[in-house]
Amino acid sequence: MTQRLEPNQIRIVPLGGLGEIGMNCFALEQEGGIVVVDCGAAFADDDVGIDVWHPDFSWLLAQRERVLGIFLTHGHEDHVGALPYMLSELDVPVWGPPHALGIAKKRLLEHRFGPGELDLREAHAGREYEVGPFTVEPVRVAHSIVEASALHVRTAAGSILHTGDFNFDPDPPDGEPTDEARLSALGDQGISLLLSDSTNIDVPVRQGSERDVGRALEELVAAAPARVVIAMFASNVQRLILLGAIAQRTQRKLCLFGRSLETQCAVAREIGRLSWPSDLLVSSEQAASVPRERLLVLAGGTQAERNSALKRLSLGQHPRLVLGEEDTVIFSSRIIPGNDRPVFVMMNDLLRQGVVLKTRFSDPSVHTSGHAGRSEQGRMIQLCRPNCFLPVHGTLHHLLRHEELARELGVPETAVVENGTPIVCDGRKLWKNSPVRHGRVAIAVGGEELSSGTHQRRVELGRMGIAFVSLALGRDDRLAAPPAVRTRGVPLVDNDDVALRAVAKEIARALETFRGGRGLALVEYVRRAARRKLEDLSGTRPIVEVETIALN
Ligand SMILES: [Zn+2]
Ligand SMILES: [Zn+2]
Repeated sequence: MTQRLEPNQIRIVPLGGLGEIGMNCFALEQEGGIVVVDCGAAFADDDVGIDVWHPDFSWLLAQRERVLGIFLTHGHEDHVGALPYMLSELDVPVWGPPHALGIAKKRLLEHRFGPGELDLREAHAGREYEVGPFTVEPVRVAHSIVEASALHVRTAAGSILHTGDFNFDPDPPDGEPTDEARLSALGDQGISLLLSDSTNIDVPVRQGSERDVGRALEELVAAAPARVVIAMFASNVQRLILLGAIAQRTQRKLCLFGRSLETQCAVAREIGRLSWPSDLLVSSEQAASVPRERLLVLAGGTQAERNSALKRLSLGQHPRLVLGEEDTVIFSSRIIPGNDRPVFVMMNDLLRQGVVLKTRFSDPSVHTSGHAGRSEQGRMIQLCRPNCFLPVHGTLHHLLRHEELARELGVPETAVVENGTPIVCDGRKLWKNSPVRHGRVAIAVGGEELSSGTHQRRVELGRMGIAFVSLALGRDDRLAAPPAVRTRGVPLVDNDDVALRAVAKEIARALETFRGGRGLALVEYVRRAARRKLEDLSGTRPIVEVETIALN
């Protein structure tokens, strides 16, 4: 149980995103209740059939009657992707920019929420929203998505400012730069606590703006002799705005490959953020019939996700389009750490299709990050001039480096915590409470939760393979027939009759000398005998499942 709060104190309880990249979610608590800020998911980086991870909400659910609502900063998956899982347990309103709500709504409807069950409330920059004892004002910040906002919250411990994800691009394609005047005015009024995005603390200065990326892409598209495929993060609406204009200026038809891109474009068009003429887009079915030099394809799958449009194009297995000589593929993206291998495999496959490949390595200007570099993070701290500083949105390394920066810039009180460690603020000081329950929950492809036990078994299956042993036992547990053995994923044994018979023989021999009892003891004895023999044969120690059938 967490400690009681005094009337002048607030508590931040990070449930995701601190100590990791992804899954951003924290609770902001004071005497009168709790507001949740963001509710993000993280994509799976292993290969055991996990679709997404979401934060463990147990702590929040244990005090569900105090939760007043959820406030979203912007529509990226790592900020809205876990909403379906939280809202299935918690019936509370969700505030957010129209774009984020549009994305959230699509997700929720996919998860079979009825439209009538959703309480989604638009929150616009520059206006104030009362959520129980909190007053929340979104402040516009520039980011790789539209309508990103920082949140200024009046609380019992004074004002706090949570930056959300931001940068200081002075001229973003949507025409809405970070509202520095407002941040500075709020800084003048006094900010008790600043929580700021740490992602790019290792980048001294962010390289290039979105418009620079647009210029680089336009040059490449204009010079390309045949089809151009631009691989991009679907949620980068700023870049979508530019690419629509580039398609028009280079007299190409625009074609979207990938469900996320379709969703993102549909939402952005609904809220008036993409004003594309109706004849600009062609459907993917029509793509192959557009003259090659007149087609610009936008494709998802920059991280080589299985079944993504780009992955299928790389293998020549896309049902709508096969790329070939003179076609160009541009990776307007970066490789997320950990994905290097699959992405390079995909690049190789694309090259084998004969395409011309352009990436950040050959053309550094084809991508820029949406997150503030160190110099912009410093600028944020200087605009806000907070009493206390808590770095968010990053691994422990990022958080510690960002804390260092805040100290260098003279912030008197700073702290670093990871998920699950609550931090209390009285406007001047920060201190930690003992950790609360936290963690991450795996959602399998198919939508159901994977318990940690099931997840562990999937990992073990992948690592070791499995053997099945069936024993038909007659009177006195004597074998009525030779043991039946099958394996899956065991080298030198799978489908090898000689090896399988050798394992069966070894089990039979072991049973002849077994005097240890019946039931479980016998099963365990057989399991060990089988495992020993399998290890001899294959060098691996597979999982062994033993089944007995009593014949008498
Ligand atoms: Zn973001
Ligand atoms: Zn983010």
